Amino acid sequence: MIIQPKVRGFVCITAHPKGCEQHVLEEIDFVKNQKPIAGGPGRVLVIGGSTGYGLSSRIVPTFSWGAKTIGVFFERPPATERPATAGWYNSVAFKNAAEKHGYYARNVNGDAFSDEIKTKVGDLIENDWGQVDLIVYSLASPRRKHPKTGVVYASEIKPIGNVFKGKSIDTDRDMVIDASIEPATPEEIAGTVKVMGGEDWEMWIEYLHKRGLLAKGIRTVAYSYEGPNVTWPVYKNGTIGKAKEDLERAGRAITEHTRDIDGRAFVSFNKAVVSQASAAIPVVPLYNSILLKVMQEHGVHEDIIQQIFRLFADHLAGAKRAEQSDALRIRIDDLELRPDVQKAVAEIWPRITTENLRDLSGFDAYKREFLRLFGFEYDGVAYDADVDLYVDDPDMIS
Ligand code: NAD
Repeated sequence: MIIQPKVRGFVCITAHPKGCEQHVLEEIDFVKNQKPIAGGPGRVLVIGGSTGYGLSSRIVPTFSWGAKTIGVFFERPPATERPATAGWYNSVAFKNAAEKHGYYARNVNGDAFSDEIKTKVGDLIENDWGQVDLIVYSLASPRRKHPKTGVVYASEIKPIGNVFKGKSIDTDRDMVIDASIEPATPEEIAGTVKVMGGEDWEMWIEYLHKRGLLAKGIRTVAYSYEGPNVTWPVYKNGTIGKAKEDLERAGRAITEHTRDIDGRAFVSFNKAVVSQASAAIPVVPLYNSILLKVMQEHGVHEDIIQQIFRLFADHLAGAKRAEQSDALRIRIDDLELRPDVQKAVAEIWPRITTENLRDLSGFDAYKREFLRLFGFEYDGVAYDADVDLYVDDPDMIS
């Protein structure tokens, strides 16, 4: 089948297996070209490990210091005339590359919020590793079925208290628009906290701890975002911000609950990047387009793999900074939030219009990055050639 991008709003409903493989191989190449990180954890579980920050959180430990990884994700396999999702192709490509280099990698595809997947991952850790040393929690989901009550919660990206009125971008029409979002109801706030807050992270840790599968000195990290004040009404001060506050509550609780095995939890504040999750947040694609250009001009642009490499190299691996302080928070959004970078963004923001979008922001680069998430726009991939959709991992657990 010839696979072309089919973009519908903030998602692309097709993905290219060869392009996704290329994406994974480029991230691997980046890591192999860096000085290996010393003292990294040997057995790493990544929950939400098929795309974005989670995928890079598998690639860095494996290809920097040879860690074993298990990746958990929720992706759609290929079907007749229908390509799989990008995360499926990424995970197959990652496992093939890891094994080619002699590294252990296993994929688990299913609902991470469920008891069933927690049990399957627990069994895999018990059989293959005995215990796990680091758990990265990098889920981004629009909904969650609670495993104990069966209630389905939805995550909403909305302001709290007031209507949000501000600039946003219509990526279908390449237009800067005035967006207006009604404030969330109390149920919507509570639902977002249930989906994107820390309860499920805590449930994972409690479950694995109860089974004796957490190694002494277990470390776990979940990802958060703060950003600048132009995004605060819909992010930090909105429903998702409440969920991220809950993530920090959960992080403190996890450190407390794993004190008997010298455990610690961290919340890493990462920079805004183009990902499937961030494309769905109003305001953020416009902010990301401006940020891309500004950070490039200031010589401080970083993409996902560079961020995660820095997270491990500077903060997490060995006796690094995170270990030397008792803080819960790790900041790798320092370059994004640098005053000169944010001053430049703030100067552009009020001036941006549809007409000057491509001059004042990196919108073309944003769109290219977006398509690359689905395996398009890679040099060397023959997009007009027939390609086999059925790329599979025979060992995948689902
Ligand atoms: P993403 O959409 O690229 O990845 C989400 C991952 O979660 C995928 O692996 C997906 O398969 C998995 N997933 C979703 N629902 C699942 C389920 N029910 N069961 C199992 N797996 C499931 O997202 P991302 O942007 O990399 O975000 C990851 C984390 O990083 C989120 O907590 C996000 O808030 C945070 N973060 C993102 C940004 C950003 O700009 N993208 C910035 C800072 C922090």
